Amino acid sequence: MARYGFVVDLDRCIGCYNCQIACKDEHVGNDFSPIAKPQPTFGHFWMGIKEQERVLSSARIRVYYYPHMCNQCDDAPCLKAAQGGAVYKRDDGIVIIDPDKSAGQKQLVDACPYGAIFWNEQLNIPQKCTFCAHLLDQDWQLPRCVQTCPTDCLIFGDLDDPESRISKFLTTRQGEELYPQYQTKPRVTFAGLPKPVVSGIVIKGDNQEGGFEAKVELVGASGKKRELQADGFGEFYFNDVEPGKGQLTVNLAGYATVNLEVEVGADVTALEEIVLPKK
Ligand code: SF4
Ligand code: SF4
Repeated sequence: MARYGFVVDLDRCIGCYNCQIACKDEHVGNDFSPIAKPQPTFGHFWMGIKEQERVLSSARIRVYYYPHMCNQCDDAPCLKAAQGGAVYKRDDGIVIIDPDKSAGQKQLVDACPYGAIFWNEQLNIPQKCTFCAHLLDQDWQLPRCVQTCPTDCLIFGDLDDPESRISKFLTTRQGEELYPQYQTKPRVTFAGLPKPVVSGIVIKGDNQEGGFEAKVELVGASGKKRELQADGFGEFYFNDVEPGKGQLTVNLAGYATVNLEVEVGADVTALEEIVLPKK
């Protein structure tokens, strides 16, 4: 029996919304009972896309897109809140809200800490992503949203099969929980979550233009050393830096070396202009 999981690779998501449209195309107007009744056209986002803008430096902004759906939690709060066996977990790990038994059980909407359950007013039932279990049960390899993603940022498969794409992916990248504080053991994890950044701009003290081949070295809180070269505008950018006290050193031929203590925070530590005095 497969043990299904999902990884969302944020480094590949371009926010095209194809996955959301595919979910609508699959589920709106289609009754897949006993897995799921039709999804309403409006108001339900079994596949949702959250957008987050991050200012990394004065010249660099990145928009993160987070495709998100039911996490098929191994310790699912919705299952605990359900009455009369209205929510159950299949052997492959998919959590199903029984469309008949769940009638009137509006408390399930609030039970999910991720906001993954939607109330269908017309049918009087709670509904959510099913990992397209109706397709998997017909030997389809992938849910509709995964098939449709043009950048392959949705990675789905059997976590117990070392040959599956998801297992291979997880040997090279880490899958992290988006909200670890909920402690629900989600089957959906994320690669490429935003990490602490240190950025800045190097300026020549004599106001000379060009030639910003400054070497920037950052020694992190644990002593780990990293080095890069500022770009043509004097900008530099370190990603995935350990939070805590670090030491930054800037070297450029013909100019005095500058040393700075940097307090690296959990998000973006954008340094002021670093002026290099002419020797
Ligand atoms: S994400 Fe929400 S709806 Fe899905 S299994 Fe977990 S608690 Fe239930
Ligand atoms: S797995 Fe299926 S139900 Fe879930 S978001 Fe993707 S298309 Fe929708």
